[in-house]
Amino acid sequence: MPKAQETVLEINLNALHHNFEHLKSKLQPPTKFLAVVKAYAYGSDACEIANYLQDLEVDYFAVAYINEGMVLRKAGITKPILVLHPQTVNFKQLIEHCLEPSLYSFKILKEFMEVASADELSNYPVHIKFNTGLNRLGFDEKAVDDIVLKLKTSEAIKAKSIFSHLAASEDLGEKAFTKNQIERFKTIANNFTKAIGYKPILHMCNTSGILNYPEAHFDMVRSGIGLYGFGNSEKENQNLQPIGTLKTVISQIHQIKNGESVGYNRGFKSNTTIKTATLPIGHADGIGRQYGNGKGYVTINNLKAPIIGNVCMDMIMVDITHIDCNEGDEVIVFGKNPTAETIADTANTISYELITSISQRVKRVFLK
Ligand SMILES: *Cc1c(COP(=O)(O)O)cnc(C)c1O
Repeated sequence: MPKAQETVLEINLNALHHNFEHLKSKLQPPTKFLAVVKAYAYGSDACEIANYLQDLEVDYFAVAYINEGMVLRKAGITKPILVLHPQTVNFKQLIEHCLEPSLYSFKILKEFMEVASADELSNYPVHIKFNTGLNRLGFDEKAVDDIVLKLKTSEAIKAKSIFSHLAASEDLGEKAFTKNQIERFKTIANNFTKAIGYKPILHMCNTSGILNYPEAHFDMVRSGIGLYGFGNSEKENQNLQPIGTLKTVISQIHQIKNGESVGYNRGFKSNTTIKTATLPIGHADGIGRQYGNGKGYVTINNLKAPIIGNVCMDMIMVDITHIDCNEGDEVIVFGKNPTAETIADTANTISYELITSISQRVKRVFLK
């Protein structure tokens, strides 16, 4: 790969392939694989990633919102797309683009049935979501009979799957809680299947669920963060490869004298002579203010350069006193080493937040 000449997010599709194969190797052969590509495929590029995975024969895709699914359809994705958090106002577009809604309450079930019936649809695939402990979205387990009664009143829609979401699958200290969620889902699945008279696809596991709870894979698993190279534990990270490397360059080098300051509001004040580099990446690119004032760092010639002063909208300044480097040199923000998880940790956040924050103005470059 040529050295970066501007801020770029390099996306390694071979690493994506590796992660997909690794996660697949954890499944029994008939288990279906749903790739979660919401939020621009966790900040990378949803269309490029989904097209690559479609060729690798993933079975399903999921996005959070309807407009994300519409973009995938326009980019040539023909596999089924589950919309995890559809909004009623966009149901027309959802149907026009053959997107499949998650229905999680009687209100949204009724609203979708009305639209589907008015459109004279038949057996339109929907996914019924149950709450088993996350307490975010989902029907209560006691709703099974009423849901089935409602579904039986109409030919317009059909429950293609029923699913739930784990609250703490990465946290081995919460094993008992997670096992309870799995048992509750099993009961729901049995009751639902009996009442409706056929067997929908059952799914529950996210990435850490795949890795930690093989007994809960059911008919399909849903992986996001694992595909992008993070396993939520040191052990699992060893088997996965971060697909994204965020790079930038040194725009200018300054000598800062004793008593001088750096950046807005004089966020950094020097009590000695130091050398700083100004980099073309700021909070509008996804490096939040919480990384400023010595918390986060970038890597130049394999050495750490702490971010000093406040993060600006389009720039950061880093301390390079101890680094032999020049204007125009490449800078690593995160990638293989340090990973986004390591950098996220400096600001008390997680890989998910850092990678999904990389804004759309950062150029994406793909390695195959
Ligand atoms: C985002 C999401 C996932 C993916 O979770 P990862 O931890 O990234 O694998 C799976 N299921 C649901 C319902 C989600 O919202």
